[in-house]
Amino acid sequence: MVGEIVAVGTELLLGQILNTNARYLAQALARLGIDIYYQTVVGDNRERLAGVLSRALARSDVVITCGGLGPTADDLTREAVADALGLPLVEDEAARQVVEGYFRRRGLDLPPAGNRRQWLLPAGARALRNDHGSAPGFILEAGGKVVISLPGPPAELRPMFEEQVLPYLSALPGRDGTVIVSRVLHLCGIGEAAAEELVRDLAAGSNPTLAPYAHPGQVDLRLTAKARSEEEARRLLEPLEEEVRRRLGEHVFGADEETLEAVVGALLRARGLRLALAESCTGGLVAERITRVPGSSDYFVFGAVTYANEAKERVLGVPAETLRRWGAVSRQTALAMAEGARAVMGADVAVAVTGIAGPTGGTPEKPVGTVYFGLSAREGSWWRKGSFTGDRETIRRWSAQEALTLLRS
Ligand code: ATP
Ligand code: MG
Repeated sequence: MVGEIVAVGTELLLGQILNTNARYLAQALARLGIDIYYQTVVGDNRERLAGVLSRALARSDVVITCGGLGPTADDLTREAVADALGLPLVEDEAARQVVEGYFRRRGLDLPPAGNRRQWLLPAGARALRNDHGSAPGFILEAGGKVVISLPGPPAELRPMFEEQVLPYLSALPGRDGTVIVSRVLHLCGIGEAAAEELVRDLAAGSNPTLAPYAHPGQVDLRLTAKARSEEEARRLLEPLEEEVRRRLGEHVFGADEETLEAVVGALLRARGLRLALAESCTGGLVAERITRVPGSSDYFVFGAVTYANEAKERVLGVPAETLRRWGAVSRQTALAMAEGARAVMGADVAVAVTGIAGPTGGTPEKPVGTVYFGLSAREGSWWRKGSFTGDRETIRRWSAQEALTLLRS
């Protein structure tokens, strides 16, 4: 299969930003065994972009564009794809939900007029969800070719590619009748660099391949094999997976659809333990994840979001003295919160999270991203400190992930 990358944006042409998306996409396509013969950079110009797309579609099977899906007048990728394929733009319900969802999460009812352009897609396109921005991406199959359009910001493009485009491309049958099979191993309690270090030599070959992908608090390792049949591809993956698991040991918590909250839940159930939670900076995210798992009522009994010091005192019984002396963000408070949460309902195990999610509230000793975790169980107590980086949302998600990681250990 032949792929081609078209990066859209006058900023790229003028050298104001580096085309890191092309690098990312090219590497990802290479790992899938998709050949790349051409990459193009084109400015925000409808005719020239449509021209580039027509040529790309004439010589390649899959054309991936990035950029130009935003709400402003210079965002013209939707129009140009429609022009190149001779298709009309039509209102797309799924795309509209992506845009509206983005504004709803920000507390706005109606998207501004410009954003309404974002749900006009070339007829026949399938919208791609965007969890990190307003622009829906899309996949369009037409005349035996595929166009995939992704937003420009890497923080939006990468998760969209990883979560929605990779599975799609993997399932496309190759020209030569080969199939691509992937297996994703999920890791916790280890960073991307450390994980890569341990398996780097295994990633040397071109089939099967191995590539890490980092989320806040979680690293995914994607193992991909290309073969004549699915069984043959799986036979290539099996020994690789075995070796990766052997080297990473406890850090591998699951594969493919398995989630950390489900794995933690299964552990609690198997040991007959009842769980309580005390959360501050995560505002209930840990409880939300625990209760996503059907049947979590078997082990989850209680969760408190104790944001104010007064709530930590009155609901969890954290001593005023502890708060005054060590502060709300401290190991002493985290431990007292966990002990308090466990005591309230007589649970067997409790986890507490307290930290500074930012952007304000940091101090030189406790900068934004400082988060303490406490774990209280019948056998004893443990604590951990996290120093996370990123925006508020990232720090909160990362903290919730670490709380679950602590529970699993
Ligand atoms: P938006 O909704 O933010 O307008 P968009 O899909 O319209 O997204 P662009 O307007 O083309 O995308 O680009 C938005 C930003 O994304 C750019 O300012 C740049 O920071 C980044 N970006 C765009 N293209 C690339 C690229 N090829 N490589 C790296 N970063 C890029
Ligand atoms: Mg834009």
